Amino acid sequence: MSPEEWVPPRNAVTHRRRSTLGKFVNEAGFPVYSGFWWKLALPEVILPVHLAVAVGTGAWAASRAGSSWTTVAVGVPLGFFIWTLFEYTFHRWVLHHKRHPLLRKIFWNGLHREHHMSPDMKDLDHHGIHLAVSLPLVLLLVGSVGLATESGWGLAVAAGWILGYCLYEALHWLFHSADPARGLGKLAPIHRLSAAHTVHHMYQAKKNYGFITLFWDRCFGTYLPLEETRPSGGKGYRRRVEGHDEKDRGPSTKGGSES
Ligand SMILES: [Zn+2]
Ligand SMILES: [Zn+2]
Repeated sequence: MSPEEWVPPRNAVTHRRRSTLGKFVNEAGFPVYSGFWWKLALPEVILPVHLAVAVGTGAWAASRAGSSWTTVAVGVPLGFFIWTLFEYTFHRWVLHHKRHPLLRKIFWNGLHREHHMSPDMKDLDHHGIHLAVSLPLVLLLVGSVGLATESGWGLAVAAGWILGYCLYEALHWLFHSADPARGLGKLAPIHRLSAAHTVHHMYQAKKNYGFITLFWDRCFGTYLPLEETRPSGGKGYRRRVEGHDEKDRGPSTKGGSES
């Protein structure tokens, strides 16, 4: 089966039908992203909301720290650094988790697989984590840290972590919407990250789990530059999409692998 035959149409309104649960879904059974509800998951909406929360959290940390700006100056970058490890860990070991059936069903099948099914990097359907999920979680985090700590350190770290999340949403959006040869995509650091994310999507899903930095990929040995990849075709496409065979560096003669 060729990739074109296998990859379903993306959320095209003309293909939508009602699922047994009453939701509009496309031919692949994924939700059709239309209407006000899904607008709340667009990066244009997510970013200003969470940036405002990050700034508010930073201001709260500063007010607790009083005249000691060290708390904010060190705490925020520390929180940002913690985010980078979080995004790597969550992407690699949670979103791509395959062994435990329930975890696989929730995270890979339910949250991440559809994103990997986009037949190319340009994904005009790209949405971030829905505001209805991310905002309560972030507010819960800030509230818990605020209640559990008395100095400004915890809040400063939380503010940095939220800033990391904002950068993740912004960059991931850019990777799937911007032309890498133009505008922001031409900036060397963004170009490098975008190329790495292209490897993760189009060639080897077990490489380049980082979004805003490749530091942890280098540490854990999962970094692969785009120049070192070779496109595969035919059935290899499906294995790439499923992302479970690191040996899939060329046209495959075997069926899809799901370890
Ligand atoms: Zn992935
Ligand atoms: Zn992506």
